[in-house]
Amino acid sequence: MRQANRIVADVLEMLAGMVAPGVTTAELDRAAETLIRERGARPAFKGYRGFPASICVSIDDEVVHGIPGPRRLEEGQIVSLDVGTVWEGYYGDAAVTVPCGAISQEKRRLLEVTDRALAKAVMAARSGNHLRDIGVAVETECRAAGYGVVRDFVGHGIGTSMHEKPQVYNFDCGRNGPELREGMALAIEPMVNMGTHKVRVLKDGWTVVTADGKPSAHFEHSIIVRSYGGEILSQGRTLKWGVLSDTGV
Ligand code: MG
Repeated sequence: MRQANRIVADVLEMLAGMVAPGVTTAELDRAAETLIRERGARPAFKGYRGFPASICVSIDDEVVHGIPGPRRLEEGQIVSLDVGTVWEGYYGDAAVTVPCGAISQEKRRLLEVTDRALAKAVMAARSGNHLRDIGVAVETECRAAGYGVVRDFVGHGIGTSMHEKPQVYNFDCGRNGPELREGMALAIEPMVNMGTHKVRVLKDGWTVVTADGKPSAHFEHSIIVRSYGGEILSQGRTLKWGVLSDTGV
């Protein structure tokens, strides 16, 4: 899992560096697949329930699961990059949302708050806490900023398959859920909307967009539950996200 996530983090860092006006999302997808395969892994998303590409690229009001294609990035957009790999049977999964060129103050704040929500959630992922504490951490941070936390899509356990139990809610699910134990592997991935929490799926069957058309941000780490909080497996080497000391955006 460490190696699978090391590859994910390196791919995300490369992709973040490629994001610029005029670049197509298909170019990002090709570069990601090439690096994943060069590193001896395979893209976990490709073919997953029929998903046609190696990564998800979700722009502005797209929340998650955007399909790469001929669309060109434009100045001022925010771009969610979501990468999954399989290495020797183990899965890695992480995501980061980055600005394309100069972005508005409003969007920058959305990125900062969502990144901080992930950081707080990672801190809450410590042994002895319950699953609920992770969701409460995300929701508390985002509510205070006036944002809507997506409820229809959630994080997940991860290991020898991409989506394992338990579901990791980004909001207070109303019950404690399982106690977090040292060594549990979770993918924590807040999806946060500038407007309401409501989302819908486009006709392509994949792309999730905000119902009100306002922008959305998505940050994700794969972590291991430790006594001090989540040990992040998918951290970038220079671009950092999901940590309080450096917002990464
Ligand atoms: Mg995930």
